Amino acid sequence: MKYNISFQPISQSKIHSVDFDNIPFGEVFSDHMFVADYYDGAWQDLRIVPFGPITMSPANLTLHYGQAIFEGMKAFKNQSGAPVLFRPEMHAKRLNASGARLCIPEFPEDLFLQALHQLVGIDHAWIPTNNPDSSLYVRPFIFATQEKLGVKPSFTYKCMIFTAPVGPYYDKPIKLITANEYVRAVPGGVGEAKAAGNYAAGLLPTQEAHDAGYDQIMWTDNLNYKNIQECGTMNIFFIIGDTVVTPATNGAILKGITRDSLIHMLRHKGMKVEERPISIDEVVAAHEAGTLKDAFGAGTAAVIAPVSEISYYESKDATTPKTIKLPALDSRDISTGLKKELHEIRTGIIADPHAWVHEVTVRDVASV
Ligand SMILES: *Cc1c(COP(=O)(O)O)cnc(C)c1O
Repeated sequence: MKYNISFQPISQSKIHSVDFDNIPFGEVFSDHMFVADYYDGAWQDLRIVPFGPITMSPANLTLHYGQAIFEGMKAFKNQSGAPVLFRPEMHAKRLNASGARLCIPEFPEDLFLQALHQLVGIDHAWIPTNNPDSSLYVRPFIFATQEKLGVKPSFTYKCMIFTAPVGPYYDKPIKLITANEYVRAVPGGVGEAKAAGNYAAGLLPTQEAHDAGYDQIMWTDNLNYKNIQECGTMNIFFIIGDTVVTPATNGAILKGITRDSLIHMLRHKGMKVEERPISIDEVVAAHEAGTLKDAFGAGTAAVIAPVSEISYYESKDATTPKTIKLPALDSRDISTGLKKELHEIRTGIIADPHAWVHEVTVRDVASV
């Protein structure tokens, strides 16, 4: 179905005030945003308008009860300079999967894709091309808007998409510490949804980890704090011998699109990938046996973040962690190669055998 999305252009583009060589991550926003409102049981008033503040009631349900979800994806330019989106339909599906868990009404997938294409087509000049690791970060989100006190699903919602040019993600290898008191998510909870509240819940544990000299928490299960789930806000992969292992999704793990893409790419090469439970004990044993070749986080922001050290508690009651060091970065051919290959697929340098890359039609702002 073709939707009618109205367009109000910004009177004066802000793009000339931006220094594309020094963009603070997530602090610079492009000219326009997409907005849709849900009321009377339907998504309506579809529009692209200048990026700017919105007003809301202090009794907005989201502010009190957190009925809010989001997505995160990136737009690039291909070798002919055309804007491209990476697996946008997967983001549309995941947005609705998250929404279903939080009683948020479905946002039509075809509307999501059209909104995304139009917005990126209009603000295509904001896609940085000065550095291969730069991109236009795209943030779709939906939140409750009803003015009401009382815990219940809202009658009204707002869906918005805005974009932000971002520079290379700082990819120094990360030091992880397993949690032995906090958990990010449990099966049956909302860990599989990209729900805003999950990130608030991770702030204190992460801050404590930073204070103790680590970069991110390696989240584990809540029963014995041994089964590995994710690291920070990324999925996690290990290479043990010639097998790539990543925790099987179990309701407590976010189903990352980077995770899914890497699994496909590895299997396409004929490599062995196992999605199964993996415990910190197994990782430590592999390290002791000399078969632990690599560990890395995977997500849209960093793509692949190599892990340099893992600190862990031998038992739930242990107070001092032990630390294992991962092999040197220059020995990690598989993950380094994957990162490069994914970048080359996204920017059209090499073929896209999985049809992941969707070209966006550039829109001349004056004539939209
Ligand atoms: C978004 C997210 C990921 C990564 O998902 P991608 O689709 O690869 O960006 C992993 N874990 C958590 C908790 C996340 O929020």
